Amino acid sequence: MSSKSPRKILVTSALPYANGSIHLGHLVEYIQTDIWVRFQKMRGNTCHYVCADDTHGTPIMLRAEKEGITPEQLIARVWQEHYDDFAAFHVEFDNYGSTNSAENKQCAQDIYRTLKTNGLIEVRSIEQYFDPVKNMFLPDRFIKGECPKCHAKDQYGDNCEVCGAAYAPTDLINPFSAVSGAAPVLRNSDHYFFKLSADTCQQFLREWTRSGALQAEAANKMQEWLGEVGENKLSDWDISRDAPYFGFEIPDAPGKYFYVWLDAPVGYMGSFKQLCAKQTPTPPNLPLSGEEPTAPSPDKGRAGEGFAPLNFDDYWKQGSDTELYHFIGKDILYFHALFWPAMLQHAGFRTPTKLFAHGFLTVNGEKMSKSRGTFITARSYIDHIKNTEYLRYYYAAKLNGSMEDLDLNLEDFVAKVNSDLIGKYINIASRCAGFISKRFDGKVGSEDSSAFELISASAYANNDISEHYEDRDYARALREIMRLADVANQYIAEKQPWALAKQEGKEAELHAVCSTALMLFRDLTLYLKPVLPELAAQVENFLNIAPLTWKDVHSKLPAGHIINSYEHLATRLDPKLIEAMVAANQESLKPMTEAHSQQRHAEAQQHTPSPLAPLPPAGEGNMISPIADTISIDDFSKIDLRVAHIVNAEHVEGAEKLLKLTLDIGEEKPRTVFAGIKSAYDPEKLKGRMTVMVANLAPRKMKFGLSEGMVLAASGEAPGLFVLSPDDGAMPGMRIK
Ligand SMILES: [Zn+2]
Repeated sequence: MSSKSPRKILVTSALPYANGSIHLGHLVEYIQTDIWVRFQKMRGNTCHYVCADDTHGTPIMLRAEKEGITPEQLIARVWQEHYDDFAAFHVEFDNYGSTNSAENKQCAQDIYRTLKTNGLIEVRSIEQYFDPVKNMFLPDRFIKGECPKCHAKDQYGDNCEVCGAAYAPTDLINPFSAVSGAAPVLRNSDHYFFKLSADTCQQFLREWTRSGALQAEAANKMQEWLGEVGENKLSDWDISRDAPYFGFEIPDAPGKYFYVWLDAPVGYMGSFKQLCAKQTPTPPNLPLSGEEPTAPSPDKGRAGEGFAPLNFDDYWKQGSDTELYHFIGKDILYFHALFWPAMLQHAGFRTPTKLFAHGFLTVNGEKMSKSRGTFITARSYIDHIKNTEYLRYYYAAKLNGSMEDLDLNLEDFVAKVNSDLIGKYINIASRCAGFISKRFDGKVGSEDSSAFELISASAYANNDISEHYEDRDYARALREIMRLADVANQYIAEKQPWALAKQEGKEAELHAVCSTALMLFRDLTLYLKPVLPELAAQVENFLNIAPLTWKDVHSKLPAGHIINSYEHLATRLDPKLIEAMVAANQESLKPMTEAHSQQRHAEAQQHTPSPLAPLPPAGEGNMISPIADTISIDDFSKIDLRVAHIVNAEHVEGAEKLLKLTLDIGEEKPRTVFAGIKSAYDPEKLKGRMTVMVANLAPRKMKFGLSEGMVLAASGEAPGLFVLSPDDGAMPGMRIK
């Protein structure tokens, strides 16, 4: 990956479903992807970013019918809304298509035909609920009834929202069609299956999921779904739906349509195919005034010699040496890490280089909620806050490339924007630029020779910062950038240009200090540009320079270069705007109506492109075990929890699950605790850590010795065991209450 040979990269985000608006939860993914793509382009790599609306399936068909329009009219309207929302948040696709396109149809049918030729398609008759009034088979989500476990009424056909049980629609008590209200009848129908259980698929997936294409936590999840060798845990995938259905008809199978989840990921290919067709050369970038022409950026400058049109096969055929990355929410890992690569592999296409899965958005530490006013659409944010780069900045400051959830804390949001962006970054220009314009005719001077180290450190930081961007650890990149901003502000505070301006004979020094500050400001702008493209463009205009690329870290603003007069770049974020936005989104708590229950469902599945998506196998998802019986505060205070320092951790001979921990809680003698955490922790890594222990648990005599307490760890349905730690600063022996 040397910078001498530009990489060829294709990037996608998951396709938003054409049945609802883009909200702040969706934007976590699109902003994350867009920052990465902009970074790659600034680096001089050939990088394309494609996406599309996911348009097929029963919900679209039924909603269009309800509105009295055709599905095509509905998806055209929603496409425009989505497109406008993304544009407002500066999410810049090279192509934004639709899964209902000729290109996508061709790709989906080609893949299907090859899979069929390779013996991986099978037709089977299955029994399914049918709505005798609507004359249609009912997807699980459109059947309701009483939960067979807890007997809650009005539950969906695949799982109960009250007790969390998962079941088949045929298990529901008194089922009814959510479309017509009629009692459904069971009918047989031929369905088409992709034979995921075939040895060739299982073998391939075992290798692929461990090839480094997945984050470690995602690879573990896949192992769980795949099971041990010979276990054959994967079942065949039902890829057909019966008419009436809004989608693509399956070749040579009249009345049968591809299930929406088959042609949704194929939409990445369809959209890229459109990009290949529409791509036309545009003029190269303008050179920086008075300097030799800068190299045209890979995306804007194709007009010159050696222009090669984009070739679909270069990016998609098996054996391609280009890079392919899918940014997705962790809830659709199942589709992207199993079905999708298995389909591609067996249809003659290349598989993804990597999947980048991310977590969900919480607002103020909780799930987005209509009743709290935190279920906020992109449009509502635009209407109230206007500046969309503030949100880009905040998300970037929290994104670290992991699958952890991201919390939008609204108070912290205001504080961070105002202290970092305005208080640190913008502040540098606003304190120094005016002097250059008023006192030196807008001419940049030579830099302050005493600031040589400062300027080189700023340029040198590009290595670390670019590494963090590449790793999608934007939080770290921004911390580094803000550290540089702090240093620049310190410099200005020491030199006091406002004081120099009032003293006679200090003209040269004032000029040098302000020029140096502007130089540092230009570097910060370059580093922030993937996150803040609009603000960077304003700065480029004010500094009168060509669009910044990563190469510019090695050049400077030459002495004599003329800048434009400084105009206000950004204003502080007023907390009142946030309050107004939340109030506008707050719905009073009404009794649960149909619309509400649908909404509730949408909230629970905020990243799922299709509400028709079948739930992943039990054990995944948001289900938690039932909360225990209520206790009083007195009951709780009987448990003496203490911060403990792990002085030592070691294996216990003959013990399969236990580690022996030596814990200091500030007593005279440390305690010994045997903890069942061997499967999850290397004892070496535990040494020196702080944790939490129950200090007043009756000592227990075990085979290996006396255990004098218990350490706390979290575990759930998903694999993994997580020992608790207090925040930095907690001391051994502190009580937890
Ligand atoms: Zn239930």
